[in-house]
Amino acid sequence: MFNTLNEKLTAVFKGMRKQIRISEENIQDALKQVRIALLEADVNFKVVKRFIENVREKALGEAVLKSLTPDQVFIKIVHDELVNVLGGDDAAAKINLNSKPPTIIMMAGLQGAGKTTTSGKLARFFMKSGKSVLLVAADVYRPAAIDQLEILGRQIKADVYTDRSTKDVVKIASDALAYAKKTAKDLMIIDTAGRLHIDETLMDELVRTKDAVNPDEILFVADAMTGQDAVTVAKTFNDKLNATGIILTKMDGDARGGAALSIKEVTGKPLKFIAIGEKLEDFEQFYPDRMASRILGMGDIVSLVERAQDAIDPDEADDLASKIQKKGMDFEDMLKQFKMIKRMGSLESIMRLIPGLSAAGPMNVDDRQIKRIEAIIQSMTPHERKNAKILNSSRKKRIARGSGSSVNEINKLCTQLEQMNKMMKRMKQKLGSGKDLSKMN
Ligand code: GDP
Repeated sequence: MFNTLNEKLTAVFKGMRKQIRISEENIQDALKQVRIALLEADVNFKVVKRFIENVREKALGEAVLKSLTPDQVFIKIVHDELVNVLGGDDAAAKINLNSKPPTIIMMAGLQGAGKTTTSGKLARFFMKSGKSVLLVAADVYRPAAIDQLEILGRQIKADVYTDRSTKDVVKIASDALAYAKKTAKDLMIIDTAGRLHIDETLMDELVRTKDAVNPDEILFVADAMTGQDAVTVAKTFNDKLNATGIILTKMDGDARGGAALSIKEVTGKPLKFIAIGEKLEDFEQFYPDRMASRILGMGDIVSLVERAQDAIDPDEADDLASKIQKKGMDFEDMLKQFKMIKRMGSLESIMRLIPGLSAAGPMNVDDRQIKRIEAIIQSMTPHERKNAKILNSSRKKRIARGSGSSVNEINKLCTQLEQMNKMMKRMKQKLGSGKDLSKMN
């Protein structure tokens, strides 16, 4: 899923990493590469055009946080725009259950798109949360489809309504509804007939079925592997049937992802589920934000940037950075830094957002360590916090008593502070005295 796009975009972001800040010139080149990547992923060209325009506008207008590098800012903007084209609002993608059961879901789509399989998957999805489901075999032209649905029904232990004596799908749907009511089903999922191509007879039959049972949801099932064809067919179906949502199947076999990235914008209908394999469990609810993260292959960094944006006041961070740069770091500054970091959440939760680290296995970071250091600093007088040099052995003994620590720990902390200041001095010398360290990332 989205393998090529992921590779291409990662290369674009890597290129941005060398930049000090986002400018009209360097964004131009990055946008060109993003554009090519999207077109190569078979995204609808109109969607690509709008996508690039929106990213350009946001990137140049963004108040770039000095604590974030240009590539991080750019990733965030591209991510947000991906969420946008994938559907934006999660709420719209949910299935609305009717307060008067059964909720009726009608599946529509071309033959071979995966309608029957997906009907079973969808039934299983609801049954997992304790709902009772009736599957309705209304694909009367493909006899095997009825058998297939019965097999699926047996596998997931769902009731299946069939009537092999008639080809009248309107009658089947209406009778099934009566049966669903009688047996008090929460949901009824109608597997309708498909054709190899859209034709009048098929559309007419679907419209009549729709009018007969008045479904709560009409879900169009499209094969992601057919790319832009899936999008075009979805649009035609939707214009006639007014679907409520889309399910994309065979995402597992689609390395490009063009259909997923175009279908919402072209049809105006949300993508509600995706199927990612032939097995019943290869099915998931669709979340635009999570999918955007997956496309970027570095999803968690987005949450990290968001947390930083929410928790860290850029002016406060700037003031602290330039103070440390000019006068060196003291214990008071250390305390302020801890406060900023803590506003972003526990250390472990922050570490988990860093790509690569979570994959490395269980983490061994300890918030208690920070708490101990805070306690030590808080036991110092304001004068001591700003002048570590005056900490003689009697002062250290007092601080150790006050913070429940040992003189040894306080000595260690003093050494750490000294080392940090030495390191910053060395960096400053290396970079030249004119450089503002607070603006380097
Ligand atoms: P229908 O004619 O629309 O009812 O399509 P079917 O449900 O019979 O599916 C057609 C073929 O696509 C079957 O071989 C399914 O196993 C396969 N299929 C359905 N969904 C997926 C999917 O998400 N991934 C893969 N790889 N195959 C799928």
